[in-house]
Amino acid sequence: MRMDKIRKVLDDANQIVITTHKSPDGDAIGSSLALYHYLNKIGKKVTVIVPDAFPVFLNWMEGSVDIIQYDIQTEEADNIIEKADIIFSLDYNGLNRIADLRNPIEKSNAIKIVIDHHQDPQDFANHYIVDTACCSTSQLIYEFIENLGELDKLDKAIGECIYCGIMTDTGSFRYPSTTSKTHQIIAHLIEVGTEGSKIHQEVYDTYSESRLRLLGYALTEKMKVFPEYNAAYIFLSQEELKRFDFKKGDSEGLVNYPLSIDGIKFTALITEKEGYVSMSFRSKDDFYVNKIANEHFNGGGHIYAAGGMLETSLEEAVKRVEAIMKKGN
Ligand code: 5GP
Ligand code: MN
Repeated sequence: MRMDKIRKVLDDANQIVITTHKSPDGDAIGSSLALYHYLNKIGKKVTVIVPDAFPVFLNWMEGSVDIIQYDIQTEEADNIIEKADIIFSLDYNGLNRIADLRNPIEKSNAIKIVIDHHQDPQDFANHYIVDTACCSTSQLIYEFIENLGELDKLDKAIGECIYCGIMTDTGSFRYPSTTSKTHQIIAHLIEVGTEGSKIHQEVYDTYSESRLRLLGYALTEKMKVFPEYNAAYIFLSQEELKRFDFKKGDSEGLVNYPLSIDGIKFTALITEKEGYVSMSFRSKDDFYVNKIANEHFNGGGHIYAAGGMLETSLEEAVKRVEAIMKKGN
């Protein structure tokens, strides 16, 4: 979409809604709040609506208290969406990623704009700003503001949100998607007052004791390693999660740990939820997990980070993941 067209659409709009995917992560909330602060700054009435709760380690972000949660504030959200002139879809590209929030979005006549970095967008919006090579939707928000010629509007609040999204989606600037442009953007964010070390502490040094003990337990007792297949998985039952007083976000990052074993290129975190089993996949080199998630686990994602779900028992889900690992890519 051309930026002069975007500018016209923005100029004509008063009420704007920003949405992101269910179980929002650092990039989902970071990109949404960064765009929220920018649009507020240019005089728009903006609301961020998320399908369900986000982890408490993102509560420090300015604007997070104003986020509306669709599963508990449904009526209020429906009313706001009904009045929206523009609806942004950030960090997702299919309505199956936003749970019940899809209903009012599908019904709405607002102009719908997707800003996202996942592959194969579904056809539900009017405009798509998609870069699958980009590390994060938060970087795309920076580039969006840049392409509007509005980088002078960048401030600490916007900077912190973009920083958090880039940091969490790049594994702290280490995944191959981290480019010189990414580092240039980070440098600019620091220039406008963003304190990187503070954000690292907020996100990674605010574990509860039980979360850290769950990590220890998962790695010691629940990780199965298959060196011959370059693969490993971790599986956790509801009972175990309850035992460790599990809170949303407590398993964030857990899936990455087996990848730090020499030779391991494909990992899965298999978690029993209420009524289904969720899967998180990570990989490197020549293993592509988006394909596996899509073909076998009703999901999708990026080449090296994807997810899905099965409506089976935990045992059955573990069996299926193991079978895929043994079969190889
Ligand atoms: P995570 O493992 O952190 O939950 O997700 C990793 C990546 O996979 C994210 O980019 C996320 O958007 C994507 N993903 C996770 N679950 C699903 C799913 O059920 N469907 C699709 N299409 N993508 C998913
Ligand atoms: Mn993302």
